[in-house]
Amino acid sequence: MKKLMAANWKMYKTRDEAEDTAKALVKLLTKSDGPGLPEDREVLVLPPFTALRPVRKAFKNVPGFFLGAQNFYPAEQGAYTGEICTDMLLDYGCAYALAGHSERRHILGESDEFVGSKVTFGLAKGLSMILCVGETLDERKAGRLEEVVGRQMRAGLAGLPEGLASERLVIAYEPVWAIGTGLTAGPEEIVAAHALVRSLLVERLGETGREIRIQYGGSVKPENAGDIITLDNVDGVLVGGSSLNAESFSRIVTA
Ligand code: PEP
Repeated sequence: MKKLMAANWKMYKTRDEAEDTAKALVKLLTKSDGPGLPEDREVLVLPPFTALRPVRKAFKNVPGFFLGAQNFYPAEQGAYTGEICTDMLLDYGCAYALAGHSERRHILGESDEFVGSKVTFGLAKGLSMILCVGETLDERKAGRLEEVVGRQMRAGLAGLPEGLASERLVIAYEPVWAIGTGLTAGPEEIVAAHALVRSLLVERLGETGREIRIQYGGSVKPENAGDIITLDNVDGVLVGGSSLNAESFSRIVTA
């Protein structure tokens, strides 16, 4: 199973900025005199919608580089002003999409059930889905990690199709208190939370649950990526702030 090293560019970068960063990333990770893209890694970039095209162009014919979307609305098409549908994303070459990022749960008020409907819809339409889960600081302090992550996982995975191929689903464990704060969960916290996610995956999917990748996200940087990526049940990372710069993200990818 290759580790999935994902860059969430959130609401940053114009088309030109995205093009420059994507091209620089490809250059850094494919140069013959550099480390190149390690055999066991895949790169995924989730730009804002307006920058999908230049990133797609930069990644064209580059093995191991994938394009994804940060969001979509779970309907075929229709009167959903301001929204985007999966066919539009597939048309732009997206292979992956996020659901349940904490910024959408907490700022935009997305419920566990709505997140679950996106996972179901995206999978049915042919996207691979990354379901983000994670507890707030208050929830962790109150000893509610298992309850919160369990609830998010059960609702998020409620409508999985029969016989789902393991590479079509990824879980990103992202403690809310570590996102964009500079605080990173410690190794014991990450190992314990990822073991919990793994057990919930096995409970839901049997043996297939052992093959599904679990990413860690929350203030991953070049300085801590090497330690995080080798922990048990860490099959990749989801990176926000430190993915905006090609040099910094390439160091994370090769950590
Ligand atoms: C994220 O956006 O998913 C994230 C983990 O952000 P950051 O790396 O900035 O904490």
